[in-house]
Amino acid sequence: MLNSFIYQNSPVFIQHIAVSCYELIKRKMRATESSKALMLTLIDHEKDKQALKRYHDGKIDQVLQNAVEHCPFYQKQQYKQPLQLCDFDFTTKENVRENNTQFLNVDSKEIKIEGKTSGTTGTPLSIYQDIASVRAEKAFTDRQLQWAGYVKGDKIGWMRGDMIVPFTQKKPPFWRYSYFENMVLLSSYHMTPKALPQYITTMVDFGVDIIQAYPSSILILAKYLDVNDLYYQGTLKSIVTSSESLATEDKALIEKRFKCPVFDWYGLFERVAAIASCEHGNYHILTDYSHVELIDQGDGYHEIVGTNFNNSLFPLIRYKTGDFVKLSTEKQCACGRVFPMVDHIKGRVGDYLIAEDGQKMHILNHIPKGIAGLIATQFTQYSHKEINALVVVEDTLFLAPQRLQLIQNAQDRLGKSIEVKVEVVNSIPKTKNGKSRQAICTIKED
Ligand SMILES: [Zn+2]
Repeated sequence: MLNSFIYQNSPVFIQHIAVSCYELIKRKMRATESSKALMLTLIDHEKDKQALKRYHDGKIDQVLQNAVEHCPFYQKQQYKQPLQLCDFDFTTKENVRENNTQFLNVDSKEIKIEGKTSGTTGTPLSIYQDIASVRAEKAFTDRQLQWAGYVKGDKIGWMRGDMIVPFTQKKPPFWRYSYFENMVLLSSYHMTPKALPQYITTMVDFGVDIIQAYPSSILILAKYLDVNDLYYQGTLKSIVTSSESLATEDKALIEKRFKCPVFDWYGLFERVAAIASCEHGNYHILTDYSHVELIDQGDGYHEIVGTNFNNSLFPLIRYKTGDFVKLSTEKQCACGRVFPMVDHIKGRVGDYLIAEDGQKMHILNHIPKGIAGLIATQFTQYSHKEINALVVVEDTLFLAPQRLQLIQNAQDRLGKSIEVKVEVVNSIPKTKNGKSRQAICTIKED
């Protein structure tokens, strides 16, 4: 609807009303009595080990039974009764890609909602969910919103890639209000250096209590505050981030400049694992969301292998995510929740550059680190010899020495033979979901 010609060509006040109605309908569809009831159950057992285990074990039995009864992929094999998770093989992304529709529950009459994972390499993967799955997801994310201090009536600042402002619009306002939801939705696509102070003022003036944002969208505001040595002038309860990986130092920077805790959420469209950070900054594996196995990689990391609990339309059992976590040595979090903890989640494999020795460099945060005036950076690499750095900068601070420092930092990590070009831009190009990629490398692997 928000992409429609009529919306894009309507006056701003009509767009406010359209966004308000759209958001209200979206909420009504997702937040039903059943999703509210589920959320209360989830809150009830999160500090009760036995109740949590009962819930988890009951879910596993249901999921396995459903899969062998209704899904051709899992019907192909014989399992002994009672069904045991360990008797199932791992499910890989290739399995899902090659046998896609065989994972569908053939007896389900529910509407199938198709989604594609952005996929790190190769073709994207189609995953289906039903409306019950969408509602369950909402119950889980709403629970984390409660952890983040949300109470009914709180004002929300929302920066999650919604196309609420036409691309062609070059002047503010780059935000729209959702009156029924007490929300201001801010465009992730118009974040030029000139507009950034207005984004902040808009949220302060509206009296936002909680910001829900893509990490890349909130980070660009935090960096703007940081390079100008400013702090957010409103009083926030918290910031809730998800859908992109959030580096530890970026989380710290956001918390410092916005003066509130960040609650981060790791999830994936396959819905086989969710990891949520709490008020103590610890990441908890939500064992009522899915069953997670952690497979030791021998390098200090464990791969997340998950079995989804909330999508009877498209069950995935022992699904290998290709995402990795580092285990925590702490056993009990001060928040009192009994979910297991992980130290951190390794950034998604995918965004990398290739160094002169041919090695893939995934951790690129160190390159722009500490350089004055730098608000956002994206690297592109089309050949082994050259890297382009697109930068959004505060131009009074990012001068020749800073430019040189950026080139030097990149060469220190990638090799002196690689030519690094720096191009100042107004904003970093976004993916069609409004996310930002740290690096784009188009060199084909041998
Ligand atoms: Zn905790």
